[in-house]
Amino acid sequence: MPRLIVLGSGTPAPSNVRWGSSFMLQIGGEWMMFDCGPAATYKMYASGFKATEVDHLFFTHHHSDHDADYPCFLLSRFDMSIGKENQLNVYGPTLTEQLTERVLGEDVGAYWHDIVARTNHPLSLEAYVHRGGTLPRRPPKINARDIKPGIVATGNTWEITAAPVEHVQPYLDSLAYRIDSDEGSIVFSGDTRPCQSLTDLANGADLLVMECIKLHDDWKGTASANSETDTWGAGKTARDAGVKRVLLNHQNLVLEDPVKKTQAIHEVKQFYSGPVLWADELMEVPW
Ligand SMILES: [Zn+2]
Repeated sequence: MPRLIVLGSGTPAPSNVRWGSSFMLQIGGEWMMFDCGPAATYKMYASGFKATEVDHLFFTHHHSDHDADYPCFLLSRFDMSIGKENQLNVYGPTLTEQLTERVLGEDVGAYWHDIVARTNHPLSLEAYVHRGGTLPRRPPKINARDIKPGIVATGNTWEITAAPVEHVQPYLDSLAYRIDSDEGSIVFSGDTRPCQSLTDLANGADLLVMECIKLHDDWKGTASANSETDTWGAGKTARDAGVKRVLLNHQNLVLEDPVKKTQAIHEVKQFYSGPVLWADELMEVPW
């Protein structure tokens, strides 16, 4: 059975209840991560998981509320490594390779000094040996790739397909992901306005993790309507794709008001008759 943990369910606006996007998904015994928004690594540990357990990270796009914790995740995964973990695979649209190089690239990465210090100073070498590593301690190798729509990754029991979605082009490219496996199918919309390629990607999925940022009246007629999905769009997408369940996420802070939250779910249900779930931080989504 898949396991899906919500690490971050909000927007760029920080609050005491939610912040930018991140999810952990276990399929076929393998953990993968979708987006790495602010504090995702901390919340991963708060949920009882370790950075070294994740071998695949997928970015939907490179707005900071989806990738700001990437340096922390990479450095934590390196710092906790004993040199025997699998190489980390990172997938995402344009800028994924550049961002990775700018974080940890040899001599050019903003944090390369940390790698140099931790692979040379006796303090760090002692800690590395103490937790089970064998010297010499090597810098991390990260397999980061800018990917295009299509089948982007496969495992023993799963396959992941990316599709283009419509968010803030031409400044950033955006992808939605679909995971198909013997255990079920899950789609992550990422950030997007309602669009046919997402509906097609999500066709018949067991679960759609869907951006639902605003009530319809707060969305229509604004710039948001060209870039993001409201309650009506989330309901129509879930309906048109024929998904079995929808998990609403990326809610703005207005929806913390219980009355507004109830209204939001009601607006989704005007169009979609299946189960509607509400994402919250550190929640494990029942399968
Ligand atoms: Zn975005």
